[in-house]
Amino acid sequence: MTTAPPCLIKPPVNNQLSYEAAISENPANGPAYSGRNKRTVSDHTKYWKPGRTLKIAITDHQDGGFDIVKNAVEKWLPYVNLKFEFIELPDNDELYEGDIRIYLTPLSNRTGYSSIGTDALTVPAYLHTMQLGMNYTSIGYEALVLHEFGHALGFLHEHQHPDASIPWNREKTYQQYALEFGWSRALVDGAVFPLPRDASQTYEPYDRHSIMHYDVLNICTIGDWEQPVNLQLSEGDKAAARKAYP
Ligand SMILES: [Zn+2]
Repeated sequence: MTTAPPCLIKPPVNNQLSYEAAISENPANGPAYSGRNKRTVSDHTKYWKPGRTLKIAITDHQDGGFDIVKNAVEKWLPYVNLKFEFIELPDNDELYEGDIRIYLTPLSNRTGYSSIGTDALTVPAYLHTMQLGMNYTSIGYEALVLHEFGHALGFLHEHQHPDASIPWNREKTYQQYALEFGWSRALVDGAVFPLPRDASQTYEPYDRHSIMHYDVLNICTIGDWEQPVNLQLSEGDKAAARKAYP
């Protein structure tokens, strides 16, 4: 029994550019002073401007993948005040159109990645902002698209929620991720375990059923606790989407 391949968030090209892109797109991403904490450029959310049309480019290999990805992405649509326009991402070195540029490649059959929200605006136009596999019929493919597109909407990993009540067995978890994925302890620290509360982020209650949650194996926890891979948007995901995109 192995865990599903974990996705890694694509970090911003540059923190200052990330901040400027987020604020220019949607001023609500900006620092709202809380207490006496001085805000820094990393203290911002990355949501697109509510009401806008997101142009989403997807590679079309003429194998049905374009529609499979499009249909999965559209499952977010009822919960966000955005419009989606889908276009083809050319498979060459042209300057690409599209706010979000999804490259489909068998190289990503084991995992995917995406820029977070408006960080996509800082990615040079000849590069894609999200990479997904082409194993369209595998169980969990739609869930992977939902998860990666959640990142593209600006959502972070739910298992790293500061209130996540996962009883991690940290040593077993390091061992498991090293064995399954070759991950270093530092990578596990940065991508698996909870993050400190960030005053700039908006938090919904911790939701173990979120599409943004990794699956958690029982052997990685103390006692009898596990979380199978989530396959669809949870009520918490829908609430978070409505709040970010009113
Ligand atoms: Zn992810």
